[in-house]
Amino acid sequence: MVQVSNHMPTAELQALDSAHHMHPFTQGAGLRAKGPRVITRAEGCWLTDSEGERILDAMAGLWCVNIGYGRKELADAAARQMQELPYYNTFFQTTHVPAIALAQRIAELAPGDLNHVFFASSGSEANDTNIRLVRTYWDAKGQPDRNVIIARWNGYHGSSVGSGSLGGMKGMHAQGGMPIPDIHHINQPHWWNEGGEMSPEEFGLARARELETAIEQIGPDRVGAFIAEPVQGAGGVIIPPSTYWPEIQRIVDKYGILLIADEVICGFGRTGNWFGSQTMNIRPHIMTIAKGLSSGYQPIGGSVVCDEVAEVIAGVEFNHGYTYSGHPVACAVALENLRILDEEGIVTRVATDTGPYLKEKFESLADHPLVGEARIVGMMGSIALTPDKASRAQFAAEAGTVGYITRERCFANNLIMRHVYDRMIISPPLVISRDEIDTLIERAWKSLDEAHARLKDEGLMQAAPRA
Ligand SMILES: *Cc1c(COP(=O)(O)O)cnc(C)c1O
Repeated sequence: MVQVSNHMPTAELQALDSAHHMHPFTQGAGLRAKGPRVITRAEGCWLTDSEGERILDAMAGLWCVNIGYGRKELADAAARQMQELPYYNTFFQTTHVPAIALAQRIAELAPGDLNHVFFASSGSEANDTNIRLVRTYWDAKGQPDRNVIIARWNGYHGSSVGSGSLGGMKGMHAQGGMPIPDIHHINQPHWWNEGGEMSPEEFGLARARELETAIEQIGPDRVGAFIAEPVQGAGGVIIPPSTYWPEIQRIVDKYGILLIADEVICGFGRTGNWFGSQTMNIRPHIMTIAKGLSSGYQPIGGSVVCDEVAEVIAGVEFNHGYTYSGHPVACAVALENLRILDEEGIVTRVATDTGPYLKEKFESLADHPLVGEARIVGMMGSIALTPDKASRAQFAAEAGTVGYITRERCFANNLIMRHVYDRMIISPPLVISRDEIDTLIERAWKSLDEAHARLKDEGLMQAAPRA
């Protein structure tokens, strides 16, 4: 048997990885040729790799490590819970203290009458639950045909067949027969790329009104719910124009459909409030949560459900659940995470201290010749790369070419920043300090300079013809 350890040479670890480990959202052959970077440790906002390099993680893992890496309190909470009750289910008329305590705490933090939690182990699972909840709700109310859920192109709701169907990622739909029936997609409020000659405000209204048009076309007696992220994350951190959400809320109210806010990224402080729904001033009936709920220390997610929907669901036997729904260790760790977020004032700091500081620095990246706009809310932001700011031009090269080159420069400069096509995005741990923010911006600027030089050398600073 091979003893795989941290002390192996990087090349050996990479070879074993290539031989046996299949990576998500990756072209395996390409990665095999290049070799993945092996991450061995992390502390605060900093990763260490197998070569001993320290890397600033401006993505908080996958948008999830809100309290930063290396908090011993969470490890202790897990160890305590494992010794007391490592596992029990909540299926057959039993419960346990960690699930009770966490559900109660989430209900306390959640806005309005979102007082009930159905647990899952991920955002994808929670959104699958939401499909079941919505359809079961309308069926129980005697409107079984009201099973259509409207979602958005370029939204991201997870990677299972159900949640991937809600999502609007065409590359995902193309693999494996998605979307499932009765999911309908409308366009996203992505002004920079799609706004044309409209002002952001006009465009926000126009895109919101696509919801009304879709409801009228499908039939108001067929539409059960609308799902969206308060701020799109994986789609490229797209902050909607100010007119967008008020108009969506008006339409949701007018037709009496359920509003699902997918808070998997926005939740737990990311936008400067506990939930993105508070930042965007919307009133969802259901919120999807995961990621920051445990700061990624344990896999846990859930659906936070309002009184009315929970009451109707309580009237039927809901034939749905996961072995690990409300897993006691995950719940205990999430509770400890919420305690730290609250008691250390981390969410408040994002709103009033480090968030505004990051905003000022991040928006200054718009002065870079390669950057068209730089927008941020709380601690999720994005910049648009462009060959011509004035016309908001896209690159002539295939979308993502320039973003990938820029991401590679960031990686080489020990800064984790992702690209979504030709947008660069950040979502750092919420505990990032002012000094670390300065480092982030310095490294981003340097990486942009290097990418810009290379693009000029290779003749890639060419605008695509206007669509
Ligand atoms: C990550 C994400 C999901 C899926 O969560 P998983 O835990 O990866 O299944 C769902 N919705 C949004 C908005 C996300 O960012």
